Amino acid sequence: MGLRAGAVHDSPAVSPEETAAVRTADGGRGYRSFVPYLRAWSQVTPEPLRTAIRLAATGVASEALPAASEFGAAPRSSMVSAEAAGAALTAFLDGPALAYSTGQHTPAGSPTSQLAADLAIGTISARTVLARINERLRDPFLLAEEREGLRDYTKALARRDFFLQLAWFFEDVPDAILQPKMQSFRFARSHRQLSAWREGRTGYPLVDAGIRQLHATGWMHPRVRLVAASFLCFDLGVDWRVGRDEWDRYLIEDEPALATGNWQWIAGVGADLAAYPRIYNPVNQARRYDPSASYVRRWIAELARIPGADVLDPATAAHRPQLALDLFDGDAYPAPVLDHAAVARAFLERYVREVGSAAPATL
Ligand SMILES: Cc1cc2nc3c(=O)[nH]c(=O)nc-3n(C[C@H](O)[C@H](O)[C@H](O)COP(=O)(O)OP(=O)(O)OC[C@H]3O[C@@H](n4cnc5c(N)ncnc54)[C@H](O)[C@@H]3O)c2cc1C
Repeated sequence: MGLRAGAVHDSPAVSPEETAAVRTADGGRGYRSFVPYLRAWSQVTPEPLRTAIRLAATGVASEALPAASEFGAAPRSSMVSAEAAGAALTAFLDGPALAYSTGQHTPAGSPTSQLAADLAIGTISARTVLARINERLRDPFLLAEEREGLRDYTKALARRDFFLQLAWFFEDVPDAILQPKMQSFRFARSHRQLSAWREGRTGYPLVDAGIRQLHATGWMHPRVRLVAASFLCFDLGVDWRVGRDEWDRYLIEDEPALATGNWQWIAGVGADLAAYPRIYNPVNQARRYDPSASYVRRWIAELARIPGADVLDPATAAHRPQLALDLFDGDAYPAPVLDHAAVARAFLERYVREVGSAAPATL
């Protein structure tokens, strides 16, 4: 019919070919490590998309799109659309983006952009987000820490592109163990406490709050993802693919390259060189990033009315006698299903025995 079809690489802000081209020695290949990738990525200024997209009116008969109720889902209160995504970006850049350096770590603090789903389905493009950040950076009245926030946010987009290019150039990424030293290290496929992790009932409040936020909203704060993922891989010793596939059932943002890349990073089996396993201490992390326990109280109903930051540490359990009282509807909040310090030590000993690296203190 005289129509032409064109393909453009428009999911990342900077296409894999552009960053690969920066590399002159073995040009054409992707990056396996984020730091040199970021250097190359920063040298490329993404061009606006030149292709004018016009949808031709074809007059072809088609069935109606399915309604949310057909999937047993409640209709959304707001429409998913390019306009809504653009408005969310504007609201984010007007305030929370300027505090992103701390917001990305504090689940009860300044919100992150929550644009992952829009970026994944294309209601906003990463290129647009980047252009808008750069425009914001031109404001001469920004404070140094506000600039820092915007730069950290730019880095988050670069990390997204990094994992996308990894999946583009290394096609076996989704199920492969990229670290040679981890090839023969075996994670379990199951654990007697796996269902406690899946359900958000490990007795470690930050982990459980994250899982419950995920179940309730289809999203989990990024800092909490790290802690909850580490708990699966190192406290339970369960394979990262089990965690990735479990969360894939709940996360609205459907971006397999990012899910795989981040899970591999945590498990220490991914593209980057991890000198040691990234074991996060769930109690220390909670004390550091949710010091008033407001995030934990928000998502764990059983802890909502327990005052003080004591709720963050199940071991001291000053609140245990209160929980034991028959004051709460439903089940009481569980005692820790395992002793983090003991299992983390056991994991590190096994790691040093089988992989050989020295193991520094846990995070
Ligand atoms: C164990 C684990 C699993 C994850 N699984 C997914 C997943 O399935 N899908 C997914 O899109 N992201 C995943 N992430 C990455 C990140 O946590 C989310 O992209 C982010 O939390 C989404 O929230 P936001 O849009 O508010 O992010 P913001 O903090 O506002 O960041 C802006 C955008 O930058 C990108 N970004 C931010 N952090 C990362 C990162 N670590 N890696 C890659 N891109 C990043 C995302 O596109 C995000 O929307 C995972 C992270 C971890 C640690």
